[in-house]
Amino acid sequence: MNYYRKELWFETKHRRDLINITRKVEECIFESKIKEGFVLVNAMHITASVFINDDESGLHKDFERFLERLAPEKPYSQYYHNTFEDNADAHLKRTIMGREVVCAITNGKLDFGPWEQIFYGEFDGKRRKRVLVKIIGE
Ligand code: ZN
Repeated sequence: MNYYRKELWFETKHRRDLINITRKVEECIFESKIKEGFVLVNAMHITASVFINDDESGLHKDFERFLERLAPEKPYSQYYHNTFEDNADAHLKRTIMGREVVCAITNGKLDFGPWEQIFYGEFDGKRRKRVLVKIIGE
């Protein structure tokens, strides 16, 4: 059994952003030299997500509208959490979109369906934040 660990760092220009990190995860799998196993990819912050979906700009706008409907950023005063912070909406959005993904690695590649892509979902950005990539296999 082999092991691999790497942190990917992100700093978005906007409070909310979706970044396709599939290529970066593929680079980790290549570096790991693991051909058969699993890769875990998780946000290391409680106001960001890692999830799998389609890389389609219309859908990304739909995610933004969907999440703003469920947990609108403003007014900040609507949330109990926003006493010393203003990011209650980001915590809620992260919970909806999820913390991590686990993907199969087959023959050294992500064993994905045709449209699956891995995204980092930032909901309280403009600062450096991390994603953990952990791979096990052989
Ligand atoms: Zn907070």
